Amino acid sequence: MCGIIGIYNHPRAADLAVLGLFAEQHRGQESCGIAVNNSKIIKLRKKIGLVKDVFPEDKISALHGKIAIGHVRYPTRGISAVENSQPHIVETLSGPSYALASNGDILNYKQIRAELEQNGVYFASFNDGELLLKFIVFHVEKNGLSIPEAIKLLMKNVKGAYSTVLSTKTKMYLFRDPLAIRPMCYGKTKDGSYAVASESCALDILYMEWIKEVQAAQIIEIDEDKVSVFSTKETQKNIFTKHCIFEHIYFSRPDSFIFGENVFHVRKKIGKILAQNDDFDPDIVVPVPDSANFIALGYAREKNLPYEMGLIRNHYVGRTFIKPEQTIRDESVYQKFNPLPHFFQDKKVALIDDSIVRGTTLRKIVKLVRHAGAKEIHLRIGSPPVKHSCYYGIDTPTRQELIANEKDSNTICKYLKADSLKYLTIKQLQQAVQDPQNYCYACFNGEYPIK
Ligand code: SF4
Repeated sequence: MCGIIGIYNHPRAADLAVLGLFAEQHRGQESCGIAVNNSKIIKLRKKIGLVKDVFPEDKISALHGKIAIGHVRYPTRGISAVENSQPHIVETLSGPSYALASNGDILNYKQIRAELEQNGVYFASFNDGELLLKFIVFHVEKNGLSIPEAIKLLMKNVKGAYSTVLSTKTKMYLFRDPLAIRPMCYGKTKDGSYAVASESCALDILYMEWIKEVQAAQIIEIDEDKVSVFSTKETQKNIFTKHCIFEHIYFSRPDSFIFGENVFHVRKKIGKILAQNDDFDPDIVVPVPDSANFIALGYAREKNLPYEMGLIRNHYVGRTFIKPEQTIRDESVYQKFNPLPHFFQDKKVALIDDSIVRGTTLRKIVKLVRHAGAKEIHLRIGSPPVKHSCYYGIDTPTRQELIANEKDSNTICKYLKADSLKYLTIKQLQQAVQDPQNYCYACFNGEYPIK
């Protein structure tokens, strides 16, 4: 999971890109970067670290230009190193220059890279964003295709998830894979600037006048005051999309609008459905903050029970699931959560979480809550058991590391040391979204939409 941003036709494009990346920091905390096009050259700054550290004011002011694209990375393909961070750029001797940032992952990466290398294309990283950029530049510069034609060719040949922004010296292009797996939207300001982002929360803070989602297999070209939309065979076929359902459950911010729905609304519905299928009545309902907050709210409202923020989260510790190494992940759980003093004493608690991946974090949280005096702890999970890995831009662990891959619900409950454990079923989860057939559920059922 990564976050992208693109700003077009704004005198302070880099400032806006930094603001957008701040809003998307939850999508990746390993590295970040911005490429600014000033109609002569591209200036690029990318480093390992958080947006606030990589882009202090003096560094932003050095990035002049009216077109900027940016990226926050959460590593999937390629090790944690600055060369694997994004954006990637290509500057050609004849003048054209290109910068690209993408969110997703490419399944046939090796094959496409080998084909390009056979044609003399050089790679500096193992990142999928570089592959997309080199594919497009090769077909534009060597084969004479227009950029939209090269992107259409890419959509025919490159398999995977890619919500992508590409800039040249004068234009910006947005495109999304035919299954629209990862979110992507764009908008316009009153003064004629455009912005694109992974999530609408990043556009909200830039005061976009209207916001639209980039459609599956759509290519959008933004040029001065003109927006051209190119349909591809895939968009014309009106095929089903396969949006990542986990964006609603966990990844996206609750104030974002993705896949035609508000994330907070879907999460509340998940909680409501969880409560409707649960005959247990606890004393209090407590979320594991933050991603389970709205799920717990929906659950508590449906059962007319007190909703309490009994666990306090330290926001200055990164998201546990997206830290790359297990040792770092383990240590950060205790730094991250603290129970309210005397709060849990002798209470029957419904502890709500969005999902269980390895179970290591939740086990420690259960221990914390028990230690704080809870009489009973009943875990209610806003998703089905995660049994399969993701290959579309999320670094879920291998199947062997997924606790639900080998263990049934009772065994997991014992491992977590809870008094009961209840998951949502896939059918119940499908009731929480408007168009359930348009989603990928592969990490629950192993039915991968692209192989
Ligand atoms: S496998 Fe899971 S995490 Fe990956 S795209 Fe599908 S639903 Fe999302």
